[in-house]
Amino acid sequence: MKVVRFHAPGDVRLEDVPEPEPGPGDVKIRVRNCSTCGTDVKISRFGHHHIVPPRVMGHEIAGEVVEVGAGVDSWAPGDRVQVIAAIPCGRCGECRRGRRTVCPNQESMGYHHDGGFAEYLVVPAKVLAVGGLHRIPDGLGYAEASVAEPLACALNGQHLARVGAGDDVVVIGSGPIGCLHVRLARARGAARVVLVELNRDRLDRAAALVAPDAAVCAADVDPVDAVLKFTDGRGADVVVTAAASGAAQEQAVQMAARQGRISLFGGLPKDQPMINLDANLVHYRELTLVGANGSSPDHNAEALRLIASGAVPVGDLITHRLPLDGALDAFDLVAAGEAIKVTIEP
Ligand SMILES: [Zn+2]
Ligand SMILES: [Zn+2]
Repeated sequence: MKVVRFHAPGDVRLEDVPEPEPGPGDVKIRVRNCSTCGTDVKISRFGHHHIVPPRVMGHEIAGEVVEVGAGVDSWAPGDRVQVIAAIPCGRCGECRRGRRTVCPNQESMGYHHDGGFAEYLVVPAKVLAVGGLHRIPDGLGYAEASVAEPLACALNGQHLARVGAGDDVVVIGSGPIGCLHVRLARARGAARVVLVELNRDRLDRAAALVAPDAAVCAADVDPVDAVLKFTDGRGADVVVTAAASGAAQEQAVQMAARQGRISLFGGLPKDQPMINLDANLVHYRELTLVGANGSSPDHNAEALRLIASGAVPVGDLITHRLPLDGALDAFDLVAAGEAIKVTIEP
């Protein structure tokens, strides 16, 4: 079968390898869609400390069960499934407390285990053990189902930042994750959503799809001023940074309303993790800063339901569909910021 494998930074290859066989407790699927995200670009260029090459990449996975390993009786060939990306251990202190997104033993599809840029994939038993394989609701396509994984991450972030009814929400960054955050905030009852982005073309493209109440180009105006003006000086109840930018994080704190919540959703480059924070703003305005680290199996199930019910539409965010041998082109499209969601159809 054909796979896209990471060998070294800058060395990702389309290769022929033997089809994997499911061991006891595993499930083998025919991958129908595996969508790409910024992480794939980062891995292809810089590698990742959890990846021992060669490794099949891809972690936004949907497909069809073709074979089950010994002892698997809840799945059968023909089942349409979505697969989690982050695999909690299910046994440590955090997992036992229900904090599965911060499991210190977390493993990931496409990192510790071969991922979805392949014709076939074995879903490891440890994914099934934590409820990480989900039935795709009838009527929902594989491509849309593959977007449940990034939406699950957004869901975790907005849950931690307590996005709810009546909130004014600002999303900084208009890539696929930013677009999902805008739509999810609306589904959670946000009053108004503002989208902030540095690049005018990207902003216009995203705004045309997700229709924020205001679109702010941070290259043209000071985004803090713009948000304060838009909210009559109050600031935003929630600010989500969906950009790998320390400046965006600093602006997020400045544009938050009293008792505002700031989700530092996007991580920063490893070598530039420091920002300037006015601790007195946090103190006097009773701000809450929260992080976000992937998603739990439950977030994935909920994300699938939100997509299937139409509460968070994602079909129109999938702007490009490419075959497996177009995966490297897909990474270039993602890197150039000319696409919203690029999905691979192996
Ligand atoms: Zn991703
Ligand atoms: Zn754990």
